[in-house]
Amino acid sequence: MDYSEHFVYRDDQLYAEDCRVADLAAKYGTPLYVYSRESLRQAFADYDSSLSLPHTICYSVKANSNLAVLQLMASLGSGFDIVSGGELARVIAAGGDPSKVVYSGVGKREDEIRYALEKGIYCFNAESEMELQTISDVAVSMNVKAPVALRVNPAVDPHTHHHIATGLKTSKFGVAWEDVPAVYEYASKLPGICIRGVDCHIGSQITTLSPFREMAEKIRDLAVTLKDRYGIESVDVGGGLGINYDNDGTPAVSDYMKLLEEYFGDLGLRLVLEPGRSMVGNAGILVTKVQYIKKAAKNFAIVDAGMNDMIRPALYTAWMNISEVDRSDRSAADKYTVVGPICESSDKLGEDRLLSVKKGDLLVQFSAGAYGFSMSSNYNSRPRAAEVMVKGGEDFEIRTRETVEDLWRGEHLL
Ligand SMILES: *Cc1c(COP(=O)(O)O)cnc(C)c1O
Repeated sequence: MDYSEHFVYRDDQLYAEDCRVADLAAKYGTPLYVYSRESLRQAFADYDSSLSLPHTICYSVKANSNLAVLQLMASLGSGFDIVSGGELARVIAAGGDPSKVVYSGVGKREDEIRYALEKGIYCFNAESEMELQTISDVAVSMNVKAPVALRVNPAVDPHTHHHIATGLKTSKFGVAWEDVPAVYEYASKLPGICIRGVDCHIGSQITTLSPFREMAEKIRDLAVTLKDRYGIESVDVGGGLGINYDNDGTPAVSDYMKLLEEYFGDLGLRLVLEPGRSMVGNAGILVTKVQYIKKAAKNFAIVDAGMNDMIRPALYTAWMNISEVDRSDRSAADKYTVVGPICESSDKLGEDRLLSVKKGDLLVQFSAGAYGFSMSSNYNSRPRAAEVMVKGGEDFEIRTRETVEDLWRGEHLL
């Protein structure tokens, strides 16, 4: 299966670029996240080079918010899509440019709004009248105008897992389609608001272009009206393009960009994109070590990565490919369910996988670069994994494995 040309087997040994994954595991321990710098660079270039209209690619920080990943994106010219003040602080710490930041999310706090205004972000993507009022109040108190786009809900079914469909009519996200004209009119009268654009984001892991086409049709017409009425300068189409976990047959980034050019190329507006998963997903792997083999009604390979390290299979019943790091001897291949050490039945990395494993072997979970480490937790008092970025034959520790002392930092005995 071809997820990324940067994680390949040579003589049955898995490599991350030119680094042997087994060597990285020996050096940094397991569980271990490994990212390919070249894969990240190419993912950004795929977006950037396929667009000819004025655009800003705002990498969605929540997919993978490691400072080194943000630093690389910033150096390539990326802007950022953030959903909290903490993410803005990360972007700034990594050298990102606040004037290329869009601030999404339904529940921005006043202190976060103030911080974003102080730093001069490009735009707030606001989701309700009450939020607009609050942004306006904070801006007025600071003697500035807050640049705002409305996140509208185009009621498009992205045909993805219900947990990650965000543009359905019943979703908590965005302004309901029929209310959009009235809420723009409301925003235009607020003293602390300047209307900068329109925004939407219909979901994640979308594997066909048709939901994007449906969205683009609706948003294009709206954008024409809004440009006319309020002089908007940008259209933000969100993120959501899926990646190959299996052989899902995901559309090429360039085909999606062609579609966007078709709908938005002639409007004289800046196109903003917020890709997350499709920038980092296939640029990362999770490496884990087999602790025990348990043969019962099922065969279990019990590994040292749990749902606290990678929650996607448990949270979204996501399928992710698992393989041996050393594939030189597959003679004992059998079906195994790969489980972690967490005290939850949903603590699975994969079910019924054909693997040849014994105690001490290394396994790899592919396509783990997005919503992997960034969703990890300390549940069961497990220190979070180390993260490494490789560049050719060089490896860089971009996050040190947590220690047990880190677990109770900030806690106090009575
Ligand atoms: C999560 C999110 C994204 C990124 O989505 P991907 O599916 O990872 O590309 C973009 N915009 C908003 C508002 C989001 O919440």
